[in-house]
Amino acid sequence: MKTIIILGDGMADYPIPELGNKTPLQAAHKPNIDRLAALGRSGRLATVPPDLPAGSEVANLAVLGYDVHKVYNGRGVLEAAASGVPVQADDLAMRCNLLCLENERIKNHSAGHISTPEAHQLIEALNSELADDRIRFYPGVSYRHILVIKNGNAKLKLTPPHDVPGTLWRSVVPQSSAPEGNETAALLNDLILRSQEILAHHPVNLERIKNGKDPANSAWFWSAGKRPQMQTFQEMYGLSGAVISAVDLLHGIGVYAGLEVIHVEGATGLSDTNYAGKTAAALDALKRVDFVYLHVEAPDEAGHEGNAKLKTRCIEDLDQKVVKPILEAALASSEPFQIAFLPDHPTPCSTRTHSYDPVPFVIFTPGTIPDAVSRYDEFSAEAGIFGLIHNGEFFRLLYP
Ligand SMILES: [Zn+2]
Repeated sequence: MKTIIILGDGMADYPIPELGNKTPLQAAHKPNIDRLAALGRSGRLATVPPDLPAGSEVANLAVLGYDVHKVYNGRGVLEAAASGVPVQADDLAMRCNLLCLENERIKNHSAGHISTPEAHQLIEALNSELADDRIRFYPGVSYRHILVIKNGNAKLKLTPPHDVPGTLWRSVVPQSSAPEGNETAALLNDLILRSQEILAHHPVNLERIKNGKDPANSAWFWSAGKRPQMQTFQEMYGLSGAVISAVDLLHGIGVYAGLEVIHVEGATGLSDTNYAGKTAAALDALKRVDFVYLHVEAPDEAGHEGNAKLKTRCIEDLDQKVVKPILEAALASSEPFQIAFLPDHPTPCSTRTHSYDPVPFVIFTPGTIPDAVSRYDEFSAEAGIFGLIHNGEFFRLLYP
């Protein structure tokens, strides 16, 4: 049987006083999602093991049935795959930010959200001065780029710059986490220093300073990892598949999972995303492939903003613009397909960051007897027939 997983990133939450002590999932008017729960079977899923970061990359890998302890190699290498950067088995790939330093401190992680054309000139300058047989920079979007080091070692302690605005940059430079990483850490420190010399006098930055904008006056490296040893969906389950998302991380997971990566125009990752376009693309893809992963980033962004009302509205949009047409298609189809609906992790509005709590899920498989759960939210799912399951176990429920 074919399957669509609809993933509302970060949807789950805690009760919020502003919503009458309901979670956004409880407060939202979502008749179609609740109907899915009434027709299907529910449970709770602990996606992220306590010893790994509660990131979307780990959580989505878990939903897709991967053993996250084996395949998780950081987000840098997934973003590299998403941008088409070739990463070989002995390569170390990582994120390279162009950021703004001021008075020896990290002013911001984005160099004032530098434009892509400006950033590409700077990355080109870094490559012409610093790249060699071993080192290469790959340009991405705005401040987000990739560095690949041949035979680099991943035993590193790297600091995501968005976590440390205002910090003295020398206090958070790359370090090794084990002696094997010493050489790579020294190389990264050298690259940071040399990038600063090159960028300081680059015409793009002189122009930005003249116009009162933040210069991109340093490269910064974080989330280094090796190419993940991931089996494809064909190898693991004998399934062909596609992923639809606005987010690079999901595209990268799709590349390594052997899924077709479908780009939908107007998919922004925000609450104004092109829901209808993504839904149409998902239903269309399902005619060709066995499995579609439809990822919607918007509720996560609302959670990071701490905006409970917006998050509730994102869930209502998901209900009307995504779940409704997909459920109607499943019920009307001569070729029944199953629908799963869940978040990857909670992004509580109160903490504005991801949490490790289990998430509610529902699976509707045409022809199976539903359980007693008739609403979809964090608490209703506790009575679900699947109980509490852990990371890689979820996907096996779809193909027992
Ligand atoms: Zn997420």
